[in-house]
Amino acid sequence: MKLAHVALDVPLEEAFDFLIPEGQLAPIGSLVVVPFGRTRRVGVVVGLAEGSRVPVERLKSIESVVADIPPIASAELELYDFCARYYQRPLGEVLGTVLPPRLRQVSRRPLGAPGEAGGAAPRLVEAQPLTQEQREAIALCDTESDAFQAVLLHGVTGSGKTEVYLHLIARALAAGRQALFLVPEIGLTPQFEMQVRQRFPEAKLVAAHSHLGEGERAATWLAAQSGAAHIVLGTRLAVLMPFRRLGIIVVDEEHDLSYKQQEGLRYSARDIAVRRAQRLGIPVILGSATPSLETFANARDGRYVLASLTRRASSGSAMPVVRTVDTRADRPHEGFSHALVEAIRGRLAKKEQSLIFVNRRGFSPVLFCRACAWHSTCKRCSANLVVHLGAREMRCHHCGHRSRIPAVCPDCGAADLAPIGHGTQRVEETLVALFPHARIARVDRDSTSRKGSLRGLLEKVRKGEIDILVGTQMLAKGHDYPKLTLVGVLDCDSALFSADFRASERLFSQLVQVSGRAGRGEAPGEVLIQTDFPGHPLFAAVARQDYARFAEDALAERRLAGFPPFSHLALLRAESRKAGEATVFLKLAARLAKRLASRREAKDIEVFDPVPAPLERKAGYERAQLLVRAASRATLQPFLHEWRLQLADKGGRHVRWSLDVDPQEV
Ligand code: ADP
Ligand code: ZN
Ligand code: ZN
Repeated sequence: MKLAHVALDVPLEEAFDFLIPEGQLAPIGSLVVVPFGRTRRVGVVVGLAEGSRVPVERLKSIESVVADIPPIASAELELYDFCARYYQRPLGEVLGTVLPPRLRQVSRRPLGAPGEAGGAAPRLVEAQPLTQEQREAIALCDTESDAFQAVLLHGVTGSGKTEVYLHLIARALAAGRQALFLVPEIGLTPQFEMQVRQRFPEAKLVAAHSHLGEGERAATWLAAQSGAAHIVLGTRLAVLMPFRRLGIIVVDEEHDLSYKQQEGLRYSARDIAVRRAQRLGIPVILGSATPSLETFANARDGRYVLASLTRRASSGSAMPVVRTVDTRADRPHEGFSHALVEAIRGRLAKKEQSLIFVNRRGFSPVLFCRACAWHSTCKRCSANLVVHLGAREMRCHHCGHRSRIPAVCPDCGAADLAPIGHGTQRVEETLVALFPHARIARVDRDSTSRKGSLRGLLEKVRKGEIDILVGTQMLAKGHDYPKLTLVGVLDCDSALFSADFRASERLFSQLVQVSGRAGRGEAPGEVLIQTDFPGHPLFAAVARQDYARFAEDALAERRLAGFPPFSHLALLRAESRKAGEATVFLKLAARLAKRLASRREAKDIEVFDPVPAPLERKAGYERAQLLVRAASRATLQPFLHEWRLQLADKGGRHVRWSLDVDPQEV
């Protein structure tokens, strides 16, 4: 009797046993169609056996082996298994996440063969001569010998990190290997993909991101798996794609939050990239102007190689001058201080461009009654409703609820309603009123939701057809506009005093990134940050572009408080419709955790008390969370595993819960 363990994308731990029909071959890694309940499903063979705990008469047979998709290689299965164990999810769910939907369809048209990689290794078209620093950085990366090496490429904005990546990728290609190039968001920087294609004209490059159609996603998978693709340029999910002979992984903007999946399999693509490189014995390059403190600590302590680019690459473009505007003295009117308005006016006169950066979180306009202080909140979430003047409605940015803007206050009936806070729309309107002749454009999720609209808009900026650009985080990275010489930051003070211990790290990085947009051409750049706390050391560090100093200070604080990278965290999140149920569940979970942690082998584990989530209500659910801290991963992993098994049936039907290992937002 030959049996296959088949992992299926169902919320159960174990793989299922199926008989392999006589004469059939179902090697480990192959995709198979199996009967499941009243349906059929595609699963992955993760093991073979001679016997089963299930009585043989109850076992069903594999229906067929999927013929047009080669089996998943053992290195990749090992990687998926690691993800399952590390992030505490069933292996079947991991496979369900990584396999393109088309490959999991039971009946579909056969897939085309991916073609062959054949021919000579693609070469890199040389652009400008490398700077001294770039040459040194490339020399530091030992990509010749087949060995694992993690490199932090710490380069200020505009220092030419891309050029270093491309040269290292070229080396891997020359050795007959494939390259994986991870970027935070491709959709936002279509010109970047173009640029990489132009530099490797003979290479087969496939892009892997969430905007692909199902057919494209399947083709991309096969191209990488077969080795036909030389370069995969992708967002976080690409780190889990199969490769025939992967030779290098590049993670650009390694600090970026979008590398962490925030639902389901909550993996960190950056962390997986490092682990994958380690197992394969290949180099991984992590690049950023503002590395995550975890990565910085690894480089400082010698676990990673540190390569630094301290100057901008193109001659003539200097680092921007950063200044704070004290908004206690220069009171903003409609969000704009006098100093900022004058700076914009100056740029308009010189036909240069300005960028106004609005920190969206918490600073979207909320409808407010001046008579009774009523303000618009979502009935289902604890969030405020955000005013969208164009659509004449208020929207909840968490659950999507919409309602019309009331004419009078729903509480007191006064007609004294006005928006407070500075959403991008409101900022745009203020700018139109201040500078009626300027060409103003706004970039945020609303204005660019139509496919291609962002591309068109950024093209206009590039051509100099826009004078003032208003936007959110979306603008902070990746774009290069020579005529842009002023960046204004409207409001970021709340991040200085957030409950999340990572908030200041994120603010620092955002400010440095957005400052990096200024002065990329000949004309020098200037950054004005409006704040009530001009003396805060974080702004001084931004002004000096002194990442190392900021990072050392922040690490010292983290060490004192015992936060990562000096400890490892896991967050248990729970939510329920009925008030109190999530908290009751978490209290029980805390008791179970404390009992587990009292054992000798788990002594370094600390269980906190349940607290409300930062957004306490969302879409009608009450949310709470429980933090667990451990000194080492080695004790955290088995602890989490046992805890999760104990919790399995404790939530009942009313509580939804999930574990987040290495949470990024707490
Ligand atoms: P980063 O990613 O480090 O912010 P980029 O890779 O986007 O920087 O490069 C910034 C600018 O510098 C680009 O316009 C690029 O063409 C230019 N550049 C890169 N390397 C060189 C070089 N060796 N000589 C001149 N210009 C360069
Ligand atoms: Zn009122
Ligand atoms: Zn809501």
